[in-house]
Amino acid sequence: MSALEPTQPPPAIEPADGVRTLLVKIFGKDRPGITAGLFDTLAAYAVDVIDIEQVVTRGRIVLCALITAPAQVGTSEGALRATVHSWAESLRLEAEILSGTGDNRPRGSGRSHVTVLGNPLTAQSTAAIAASITGTGGNIDRIFRLAKLPVTAVEFAVSGVATEPLRTALATTATDIGVDVAVVSAGLQRRARRLVVMDVDSTLIQDEVIELFAAHAGCEAEVAAVTERAMRGELDFEQSLHERVALLAGLDVSVVEKVRADVRLTPGARTLIRTLKRLGYQVGVVSGGFTQVTDALRERLSLDFAAANTLEIENGVLTGRVVGQVVDRAGKARLLRTFAEQAGVPLAQTVAIGDGANDLDMLNAAGLGVAFNAKPLVRAAAHAAVNVPFLDTVLYLLGISREEVESADESDDDGV
Ligand SMILES: [Mg+2]
Repeated sequence: MSALEPTQPPPAIEPADGVRTLLVKIFGKDRPGITAGLFDTLAAYAVDVIDIEQVVTRGRIVLCALITAPAQVGTSEGALRATVHSWAESLRLEAEILSGTGDNRPRGSGRSHVTVLGNPLTAQSTAAIAASITGTGGNIDRIFRLAKLPVTAVEFAVSGVATEPLRTALATTATDIGVDVAVVSAGLQRRARRLVVMDVDSTLIQDEVIELFAAHAGCEAEVAAVTERAMRGELDFEQSLHERVALLAGLDVSVVEKVRADVRLTPGARTLIRTLKRLGYQVGVVSGGFTQVTDALRERLSLDFAAANTLEIENGVLTGRVVGQVVDRAGKARLLRTFAEQAGVPLAQTVAIGDGANDLDMLNAAGLGVAFNAKPLVRAAAHAAVNVPFLDTVLYLLGISREEVESADESDDDGV
């Protein structure tokens, strides 16, 4: 450190501390020029702007400006009030001016984003969520809509309570009222996410790949029963995988192509991936299914990473065995770490999305683990849960609005 540098940082300066301030609120029909008109009116009094907030809802503007009071108390402030009111009246707007001191109160410590997905979002649900936030001692600082399609998504900025107790309280409320409520801590970390890793079966795609194979082998019911038990965590995944794959022994390799064609992407999957890629994210999949399908998905969706089990094929038929190390619950978490390392992204900046018990380790290891239409066991353990059948709603948990997604789509046609 050079001798010229101070050893202690200078005290934070609060320019508006203790200073007389005026809160000016304008409300009415929105039209071009209102903001310019208000500040042009205020400029005559040489006041400083401390804060501005403006929203337009169904054509009505609410414009709030926090300004320093004019230096000369009395005539000057009275003149300012009269001028603002007369300007507002000339535009048939309502104006309210409140005297006071200082800036906004600083936000409480412990800040979170609460994303609510409703289809529809009812007043009753909104009341329950707001009451739940208040019940934890949290304060709602801002609310705004992220999306109206395919579901109504609203974000609450909350302060004054730590993220964990807020998440616990809202998880109970969300279950009671049947809407999705995701709580993530605020701060730079949320903006710094750089890698998204998804499960495949019943997450990226609507199907369970082994069941598609089983349908061609005529053992669908037997395989589905084992899958269901494995996903509930009642069976060791590796054991159940070997059991199910054994049922496919003797199946002609031409079935692989048929299964690839059978795969149905989850609604919103393409929008999610396209938007993430535009934002510079790397995107990968890990699957307890098979590379014979995930490699095709990687190609089709321009994914950066893909890993799964490989069905052994000999003399043009499936042998009923898998090759190499099995991708199981621990394997998925291990692959998330590997992908993060290869992408040069710390684990805290990763997002994992999955639906099954074998996704739990991966969801816990990621900076943000999202349970997607998951079993209750998985939902309870994840950081956030989405229960609407649209994969692109995960974007809302990252604070990305529908409007941003759509305007990117309009201005750029060469997405994936
Ligand atoms: Mg799955």
